[in-house]
Amino acid sequence: MNKEKIIKAGKTAKEVREWIKPQIKKGIPLLEIAEKIESKIIELGGKLAFPTNLSINEIAAHYTPSHDDETLTYGLLKIDFGVHVDGWIADIAFSIDLENSEENKKLIEASEKALENAIKISKKGTPLNELGKTIQETIESCGFSPVINLSGHSMEEYDLHSGITVPNVDDDRGIKMEKGLYAIEPFATSGSGKVHDGKPSGIYMLINEKNVRSPIAREVLKFIEEEYQTLPFCSRWIVKKFGTRGLFGLKQLEDNGNLHQFAQLVESGKEKVSQAEHTIFVDEDKVIVTTREN
Ligand code: MN
Ligand code: MN
Repeated sequence: MNKEKIIKAGKTAKEVREWIKPQIKKGIPLLEIAEKIESKIIELGGKLAFPTNLSINEIAAHYTPSHDDETLTYGLLKIDFGVHVDGWIADIAFSIDLENSEENKKLIEASEKALENAIKISKKGTPLNELGKTIQETIESCGFSPVINLSGHSMEEYDLHSGITVPNVDDDRGIKMEKGLYAIEPFATSGSGKVHDGKPSGIYMLINEKNVRSPIAREVLKFIEEEYQTLPFCSRWIVKKFGTRGLFGLKQLEDNGNLHQFAQLVESGKEKVSQAEHTIFVDEDKVIVTTREN
């Protein structure tokens, strides 16, 4: 693990969050917010670890604006973005209430408190289900439910979800936190606490580099391999590079089995969801919250 790059990615994510947060108001195009966040990351010397997620109300995650998106901000908005420095990732998210709604504010407080409590007990050797238990208890004590089929995750170089999950409930698996990089991300909901797949998100990931016939698909594949490697990217970025003909390439790559497209994740009862997320670096004898402390 490259600690220096992990710290730099975290610091960049923190700065971008502090810069964008006061700019988010009701009625602004989601596209504008995503573009601002992503340009700022690059301006500060980072790269994009995944497309900015701007998910409203019952959409828990995986909404990123398309190149021609006209949606304006409203409701309970989750802002989730990622920075990487040579593949070392900082993953951060926060929620904003744009309706002056008591329930939204309480939902936001619930996921934030759960995140704080989980961070407090994070260290090498902590059983991961203890984190889940703390998150669950905190959210339930606020009168809501955690989303049980969304979780935090370990991260490795160019690998956003590297295999270990950080549960949002007590899942009793007996796995302990080891040295490494983790994203902790509680989701609180006024619903039953499950998400299901919604519409296609326009967020993709390379899963197979096998040959593809059409020239535009080849061109797009080469760009993805060089620019994003195994990190998620979105159709909007492909349009930025290739124009709308890039969308044909994407479609062919998806049909050919080169790409996986993620679905939007929607709360099953269409109830509202809040999210809070930080990245932590667990070292031998200390824990650094990379997206907050430096
Ligand atoms: Mn995230
Ligand atoms: Mn994450």
